[in-house]
Amino acid sequence: MSITKGKLYVVATPIGNLGDVTLRACEVLSAADLILAEDTRHSGILLQHLGIRVSLQSLHDFNERVKTEPIIKRLLAGEQVALISDAGTPLVCDPGFHLVRRAIEESIKVIPIPGPCALTAALSVAGLPTDRFLFNGFAPERGVPRRKLLESLAGFSATLVFYEVPHRIMGFLKDAIAVFGKERPASVAREMTKKFECIYRDSLSNLHQFLASHPEQQRGEFVVMIHGADQPEDDTRQEKVRLLKILLGNSLSVKLAVSIASEILGGNRKELYRLALELEKNE
Ligand code: SAM
Repeated sequence: MSITKGKLYVVATPIGNLGDVTLRACEVLSAADLILAEDTRHSGILLQHLGIRVSLQSLHDFNERVKTEPIIKRLLAGEQVALISDAGTPLVCDPGFHLVRRAIEESIKVIPIPGPCALTAALSVAGLPTDRFLFNGFAPERGVPRRKLLESLAGFSATLVFYEVPHRIMGFLKDAIAVFGKERPASVAREMTKKFECIYRDSLSNLHQFLASHPEQQRGEFVVMIHGADQPEDDTRQEKVRLLKILLGNSLSVKLAVSIASEILGGNRKELYRLALELEKNE
């Protein structure tokens, strides 16, 4: 007789306000044979609030590797397991990656139960472009490594997103100003969904100044979002010229070079044509 494998549910839980738990999260957690939580005491409060009484075990950064194999065995034996973290979506700067990867290797179904996540909540109200963003998790704690990371991101045109903790928020903003400049637009989302929720939108230096003069606003949990670098017209033009030069240099016709360049870079075909003809003339 073959045993049907169990499923691993990756369940998002509130990032502060317990009212944000989804109906489906409640259903899945209630029906699970085992709930894995980062901190069983912390999650116990949520489960008690929801009236859910299911066997609870810890799974955190320090025991994930040891715990994974026994859990995989239980899943293979047909048990339903739910993974939650202290807040928000597991695996987003939270444990679970090793377990999820092992489950996938064993062809165990891994099912997302979507819900709160500080990253998407903050982006949705930042007033910064969200069509492209780069999530960086927590920046390195201090000094040189943090500056180096920020410098490597200085030219990115996508919105940059960071998680930050109270004792590092001022240092982070100071380094961000040094790398991106005082005037770069940014947003700081603090304590979302909680009593002291605040969303600030201003230049990096004004945000730094405001928090410096309001130390009580430096407490709590933060998401910092920074507008991406503006792509100056010149940079875009240079990119087009560079690509067209390569294509024409490989003996492609103007028509084909323009067609390939417009596939790769998008934008106005007429302008690409004009540039390609100019380049041919100057050859
Ligand atoms: N898994 C979580 C998620 O889905 O967002 C993130 C966990 S990570 C260990 C914790 C960090 O997320 C905090 O330090 C903070 O940067 C951010 N965060 C979590 N809850 C938040 C909230 N209510 N308001 C602002 N930031 C929050």
